[in-house]
Amino acid sequence: MLIRLKRALAATTLDSILLVCKELGYSYAFLDEARTLLQLDGLGGADHRTRFEDLTGVASVLEAGSAYELHERAPGRKDTRVTVRNAIFGDGNVSLIGGPCAVEDSERLIEIAQRVEAAGATLLRGGAFKPRTSPYSFQGHGERGLESLAAARAATGLGIVTEVLDPRDVERVGAVCDMFQIGARNMANAPLLREVGRTQTPVLLKRGFAATVREFVLAAETILAEGNEAVVLCERGIRSFDKTTRNLLDVGAVAHLKRATHLPVIVDPSHAAGRADLVRPLSRAGLAAGADGLIIEVHPAPEEAQSDGAQAISAEEFSRITDDARILAGLDGRRLALSGTSKTQPVETLT
Ligand code: PEP
Ligand code: MN
Repeated sequence: MLIRLKRALAATTLDSILLVCKELGYSYAFLDEARTLLQLDGLGGADHRTRFEDLTGVASVLEAGSAYELHERAPGRKDTRVTVRNAIFGDGNVSLIGGPCAVEDSERLIEIAQRVEAAGATLLRGGAFKPRTSPYSFQGHGERGLESLAAARAATGLGIVTEVLDPRDVERVGAVCDMFQIGARNMANAPLLREVGRTQTPVLLKRGFAATVREFVLAAETILAEGNEAVVLCERGIRSFDKTTRNLLDVGAVAHLKRATHLPVIVDPSHAAGRADLVRPLSRAGLAAGADGLIIEVHPAPEEAQSDGAQAISAEEFSRITDDARILAGLDGRRLALSGTSKTQPVETLT
């Protein structure tokens, strides 16, 4: 590990840094006369980088060396594969998630589930608890929404992805879902991250709309550190100065994360675009950047949707995205996971 210290440190500050080095089992040497570059040799640990960054005399950790954090792609570390019923994310596998923003009535949810499954989805999304910006907006049907999700799974066999907002709800949401969604507004909610980290249910972690990539991976680290290894990262667009799209899809972050972490990374083109007509091109962009899947909002009557109708696409459009995904996954030897009932266009008839 290579650490840059602040200049002209008080002797006591320097001593306390060197004490931590010893406690963590490192031998050390200064690389410069000003004693600001400290080279550590020893066996790294997942918590070491942050331990040093938190010390007052440390300016930055320039090179973490063997102190790999749990999310990091250490040399020789294989891609993590997260399996959720018929869906497989990562390690050469691409899967698609579709469904409404919010769970509305039960019959409509089953209808959407059947349609997205036929169009190539292997998981059904839908919020029972909705994290709305205004407390006066529709907040989701809560418990009733969870019952509808369970009914949709029983009717189709599709696994369920749904958002959990509160650590106190982890148990009851976990009793119904196959994958927790932690939304953008909760990415940095440490008690919630720790609570889902104590389960073995896979977690779809969305990037906060103003979160740096470092903050995003440290949120994932919080889940991993509790013992849950099934974390899928989701880039859903970050806030920008331009309101042409609802958010700015950060495809650079997708490509970076695929290199820097071993975790699967998926893209949410719906919340990035905020407009139905841009969902397909943004899906293509995400997959081309290396995404291991997509989560897309689908609604048969967007004008009737209780939230995010403007960005909801039809099942037919979803089916076209599935065909794109098959081709784009194939470009670098990856497979698109499909459930038994998917009836997507054969590749030859693509338009
Ligand atoms: C959602 O998936 O409907 C949602 C609220 O997403 P985000 O947390 O990314 O805003
Ligand atoms: Mn939504």
